[in-house]
Amino acid sequence: MSTELSIEFFPPQTPEGMAKLKAERARLATLKPAFFSVTYGAGGSTRERTFAVIREIAAEGFDAAPHLSCVGSTKAGIREVLAQFRAEDIRRIVTLRGDLPSGMAEAGELRYANELVEFIRSETGDAFQILVAAYPEWHPQAKTPEVDLQNFVRKVKAGANAAITQYFYNADAYFHFVDQARALGADIPVYPGIMPIVSFYKLSRFSDACGADIPRWMRRRFESYGDDVDSIRAFGLDVVTGLCEKLLTGGAPGLHFYSMNQSALTLEIWRRLTGTAKEAAK
Ligand code: FAD
Repeated sequence: MSTELSIEFFPPQTPEGMAKLKAERARLATLKPAFFSVTYGAGGSTRERTFAVIREIAAEGFDAAPHLSCVGSTKAGIREVLAQFRAEDIRRIVTLRGDLPSGMAEAGELRYANELVEFIRSETGDAFQILVAAYPEWHPQAKTPEVDLQNFVRKVKAGANAAITQYFYNADAYFHFVDQARALGADIPVYPGIMPIVSFYKLSRFSDACGADIPRWMRRRFESYGDDVDSIRAFGLDVVTGLCEKLLTGGAPGLHFYSMNQSALTLEIWRRLTGTAKEAAK
């Protein structure tokens, strides 16, 4: 099977977390992803930690794609970060609005991701490949699906090269989104974001906040397992592998894994999909 793979991390807060991530990353590196991406806290709150992980990834010989969010930032601040990316020979940015943390009142000079894409293009031309977020089940703040779709199209028209979706467990939502976007001329590769399932409780809480739907048939099964972590893991692996198969068979250009800084589930799903990575999964 030939499919593009990318894997996302968040920047750890401690030296122990950095060491652990390095070990997990070494296992994931056996899958030869196109790139590893690293999230970026709103208002630049993780800026130095994001850079630290990006530098490590680059030093290990892999393509590193920092995320960059504009909420709570000034144009001058973003300009500075872009200069730092160029100095580090970064070629790819996952470009986002971000969410204002509670207590942070100022939206910043760039209010939406399409404005950030436009700003990056106007400041740096084609220096970067720009990826943006897409929401097959719609962004939780969107007034209507139509408005959200139009806002996605704005990001593409502003110069985005590709998109990564919020996670979802309903393949039809993805295909519907891609068809609708294409019909409006937004014909860029849309990589499904894949969230392996470690804990149903955590997934459930997080999904409520980000607007991802856990279908009833899945929810009921997970609930029936209670604290039985082995059954949750086994069912989660089956469901997510099945989802990936459907997506790839249906024409998705690749997969982007939200690894949560853990390698085991991503390795196991990839092994089931491709029959590879057996050694690394041990
Ligand atoms: P936008 O595309 O700006 O959309 C946000 C909302 O505003 C939507 O409801 C949209 O319909 C609406 N909208 C968009 N443009 C306009 C406009 N011009 N006028 C009026 N309304 C508009 N968050 C982080 O803080 N750091 C990360 O590293 C990070 N990584 C992520 C990676 C991926 C792949 C995804 C899917 C999400 C990530 N997020 C991250 C979360 C993201 O920041 C939130 O989902 C945020 O709420 C929206 O960001 P966005 O870039 O999609 O925003």
